[in-house]
Amino acid sequence: MTFQEAYHRGRTTLEKAGIETASYDAIRLFQHVFGLDRQSLILRGGEDCGCGLDRFQGLIRRRAAHEPLQYLLGQWEFMDFSLLVGEGVLIPREETELLVYTAAEALKKARTHWENPKRAPLVIDLCAGSGAVGLGISQLIPDAQVLCAELYPQAMYYLRENIRRTKKWNVQPIVLDVLDASSPALAAKKLEAAQGFDLIVSNPPYVTSREMEGLQAEVRWEPSTALNGGTDGLDFYKAIAKLWIPFLSGGGIAAVETGETQGPAVKTLWQEARMDHVETVQDFNNLDRVTLGTKKCQKG
Ligand code: GLN
Repeated sequence: MTFQEAYHRGRTTLEKAGIETASYDAIRLFQHVFGLDRQSLILRGGEDCGCGLDRFQGLIRRRAAHEPLQYLLGQWEFMDFSLLVGEGVLIPREETELLVYTAAEALKKARTHWENPKRAPLVIDLCAGSGAVGLGISQLIPDAQVLCAELYPQAMYYLRENIRRTKKWNVQPIVLDVLDASSPALAAKKLEAAQGFDLIVSNPPYVTSREMEGLQAEVRWEPSTALNGGTDGLDFYKAIAKLWIPFLSGGGIAAVETGETQGPAVKTLWQEARMDHVETVQDFNNLDRVTLGTKKCQKG
């Protein structure tokens, strides 16, 4: 079979399976297996595709069964780097870049008011998964000391690998249950954050139990532990407000990604936790996506 034929058959299989992005997915899988881009596909389309064919067709079959493209490729782009992903870890989403940029901007601004702005900011990323958020912060604030907290071994594997591959040695992983009351003190100790964290950042599970029942076929491949935020989807925000915000330094920032209907509820939780300047930021679809606030300084 030629490259052209293999590609067209693959695309048709995906179209018939109802994959909306059939053409894009087929070309990405094609490139992944044969190492050829679109241009080479046109120029060398008539050549025999040889021994990669079985592998390509195998991946097409899996994609037709709605396995996420990102898992099949084994990596996915986030900001300007690429992260390893696979079963057991949440796929980084474009929306989450907004969380990273917003949190980094807020931290940079807060830092200008520090007595010593040269001090390395202490950052904790809760429910870190692939490490997208923590690594993203480290990319934007290279001297930050970032601790990425994750509970599940499969996600931890990707987190460690992604830290190693991106060579961000200021980023460390820690196995930790965000909902456990003893965790914040443990994390603060590991980060030597005697005065508290300068930034708590998180994209926690926020899908409601009800929404969990109607998830898109692809999303069902992702770990429910990274998605399910309890009955109202707010379990992790409540825990962050109650357990973690007390471990923020005065002037420190807590920034979280939320579901599109959760902005007001999280805003209230932050205000009740005595946070100042609480605001919600909209994503590129104009939906509430990030809520953040600043811890009041003790001196007032
Ligand atoms: N954004 C994900 C979704 O659309 C949810 C991720 C999360 O719960 N943090 O399903």
